[in-house]
Amino acid sequence: MINKNIIFIAPPAAGKGTQSGFLVKKYGLVHISTGDLLRDEVSSGSTLGNELNEIMKSGKLVSDEIVGELLKNRLMKDDIKNGFILDGYPRNVSQAKFLDDMLQSLNMKIDHVLYLSMDRDTAMRRALGRLTCPKCNASYNKYEEIFKPKVDGICDNDQTELVSRSDDNEETFKNRFDTYIKDTEPLLMYYDQKKLLRKIDNSGSPEETFAKIEEVICK
Ligand code: AMP
Repeated sequence: MINKNIIFIAPPAAGKGTQSGFLVKKYGLVHISTGDLLRDEVSSGSTLGNELNEIMKSGKLVSDEIVGELLKNRLMKDDIKNGFILDGYPRNVSQAKFLDDMLQSLNMKIDHVLYLSMDRDTAMRRALGRLTCPKCNASYNKYEEIFKPKVDGICDNDQTELVSRSDDNEETFKNRFDTYIKDTEPLLMYYDQKKLLRKIDNSGSPEETFAKIEEVICK
């Protein structure tokens, strides 16, 4: 067991969800994906959920206030005390400052900020082939051998039928990638100045990337 609080920064479809899954399985960390929290709200069919769906389908960011509130509620739960992974938060510098304040008030801190890089074309190919389990959120890829489910279109974990995310289409992907470059990449400097940032070589297989992550977090 390691009791660490980790942030992932990476372009869309670069493998944050996959690496988070490995960390959950091996180290029992809690995976907090703001995208999943927002998608749960969308699935609830509430008025807010419908508004969020429109924003997410466009590839733009949801307002800092809404995501901040969802995250705050999640961080209040007791299960995060043994360490958590933030996947998809913060997405801009103002969210990073909000997070700093929130963690300080909860007497917690971030231990590592892990940066997984990926070029635009590779990330786009990944996004367009991505399949997700609506039940356990596991991620697969119909185009890449190593990411295919054992049975076509079915989740290995719970045999649920896999779905494509509505924002994993070419047009939305381009917007998400542009949003990442404009709003999220400035976080690299923010966390580098705090001496928390570590760049992880993400050019090999998911297992190779995970081994690099372990070298950093288990030190
Ligand atoms: P993800 O699952 O992280 O790729 O997020 C999917 C979509 O949810 C993004 O394209 C945004 O529209 C929204 N989203 C997720 N996390 C955030 C965040 N921290 N701030 C604003 N919008 C977010």
